[in-house]
Amino acid sequence: MSPAQRAAIESSGCETKFDNLTRQLYATDASIYQIEPAGVAFPRSAEQASAVIRAAADAGVSITPRGAGTSLSGGAIGEGLIVDFSRYNRQIVGLDIDWRTVRVGAGVVLDQLNAHLKPHGFCFGPDVATSNRATLGGMVANNSSGAHVPVYGTTADHVVSLEIVLADGRINKIGPGHDTLRDEREKIESLIRAQRGEIGERMPPGLLKRWPGYGLERFLRAPNNLSEVLAGSEGTLAAIFSKGNCSFRPHVICSSSMPNHARRFCSSNFTTTTLRND
Ligand SMILES: Cc1cc2nc3c(=O)[nH]c(=O)nc-3n(C[C@H](O)[C@H](O)[C@H](O)COP(=O)(O)OP(=O)(O)OC[C@H]3O[C@@H](n4cnc5c(N)ncnc54)[C@H](O)[C@@H]3O)c2cc1C
Repeated sequence: MSPAQRAAIESSGCETKFDNLTRQLYATDASIYQIEPAGVAFPRSAEQASAVIRAAADAGVSITPRGAGTSLSGGAIGEGLIVDFSRYNRQIVGLDIDWRTVRVGAGVVLDQLNAHLKPHGFCFGPDVATSNRATLGGMVANNSSGAHVPVYGTTADHVVSLEIVLADGRINKIGPGHDTLRDEREKIESLIRAQRGEIGERMPPGLLKRWPGYGLERFLRAPNNLSEVLAGSEGTLAAIFSKGNCSFRPHVICSSSMPNHARRFCSSNFTTTTLRND
């Protein structure tokens, strides 16, 4: 990274690190790959994430969003700027037991969320094996799931809305109830519709678990909902930050005959919250 690129990123106002130790720490994830990044950013708010992502993009530096780095395929490493959403964005707010929704920061760890829900007799359904590390942002981006996928589905099935940051710095809420990114939605819809035959063959209904990739078949079923495409996109379309004031909806009705903790929190308002220092 040139001194000019670094200066542009530092001037964004977001906490950044470019020292050798930090770059080594972020050079690996749980995959077999190793790539030393040019630097790492630690946004505390969607606005900071927007500023640093835009500064990097304008300076021609690639961006890799990152959660806990437990990804197995090298998705959380890259040679440009790593944007670590796990350090500060760990707030859980807006628990709504009636609607079974909650708002979480992209950096909230699954076990942290479940500890929050357990006293109420719920937990978040998709039970990824790395639950004591994996962040909800990483789970959405990987569309993670676990041993109970036939019962609880994948993470995408529990997303109501997302707050995202695009490469040009725009911050948007997406999901039902958010009439945003209309141009992008229309373009994506026409691209996907043109391929619907092949998508139907390769991703038939009932195929519960597959390694991520854009949720093309889910978008066909819910054409207005960009979160369906974003879930599984592995950080390639947008950074997930999220915040409150999102639409809530119940996803799965839990049976009262089930033992308390076996009732899964069928959440959805996955879109998180901004963790501010104040
Ligand atoms: C031993 C082991 C067992 C595992 N078992 C399972 C399993 O049972 N089920 C399963 O699905 N996976 C499993 N995994 C893979 C991995 O743990 C999960 O996919 C996990 O949910 C990833 O979360 P993370 O926070 O570590 O994401 P990271 O590894 O940090 O990132 C994963 C991807 O998401 C992107 N990303 C991260 N945060 C954001 C964000 N805020 N915005 C946009 N993009 C983002 C990254 O760029 C990357 O492409 C396992 C991994 C290991 C090592």
